[in-house]
Amino acid sequence: MHKPYFLNHGIDKKSRYSRERLIQRLHTQGIKSQNVLEVMRITPRHLFVDSALSDHAYTNHALPIGQGQTLSQPYIVARMTEALLSQGTIDSVLEVGTGCGYQTAILAQLVGKVYSVERIKSLSEKAHKRLNYLGIDNAQLHYSDGQWGWAKDAPYQGIMVTAAPVKIPHALLEQLAIGGCLIIPVGPPNQQVLMKIIRNRIHYEQYQLDDVSFVPLRQGLN
Ligand code: SAH
Repeated sequence: MHKPYFLNHGIDKKSRYSRERLIQRLHTQGIKSQNVLEVMRITPRHLFVDSALSDHAYTNHALPIGQGQTLSQPYIVARMTEALLSQGTIDSVLEVGTGCGYQTAILAQLVGKVYSVERIKSLSEKAHKRLNYLGIDNAQLHYSDGQWGWAKDAPYQGIMVTAAPVKIPHALLEQLAIGGCLIIPVGPPNQQVLMKIIRNRIHYEQYQLDDVSFVPLRQGLN
């Protein structure tokens, strides 16, 4: 694990109890990685949503983050993170869809460096403030259309996409390192499948993980 940032960050008794219950539930649902469970336990999800929603932060639900976007439910965050790390240690990850920055914070504690792109400026700016506040210094956020990836720092050993395209953008496949892993929801609304793609020397291996429901990957900036 990279570094445990927030051991005592705003944890009162009530939230400690609901966090423990959530971690138990993730474990029961099949999350096995102790590192992923530990990082989810110590990361203050309530600081990534509007204070009116903070009572719901440690339930297994997706939550609105403004601009019609949502923070994925904890199970999905854990599932995608575990799948991404299943290929072994990762130095650099590209995340497409920073949103509120929660998934970025989880990744930053488990890998060397995170590059995260977001097409909605206000979300990217807020996420930047939150990550700074929490002392996370190995995540670089960019206001950019993630369908083009982030070529400057490619190739990446891991790429995680948190909005669903109908078809996997070519640039993301190109920016994946040999041996790297891409986790991405693919498909139109109501028919999305979470995919794991491994790039080997010759081709891309494809695995279907779960049926999922994500906001769509959109084009251009907002
Ligand atoms: N990982 C986020 C999930 C946010 S929802 C979190 O932890 O909060 C998905 C995000 O993807 C939204 O913020 C949405 O604006 C963003 N998104 C959609 N299309 C995009 C694109 N082409 N490039 C970058 N971000 C995109």
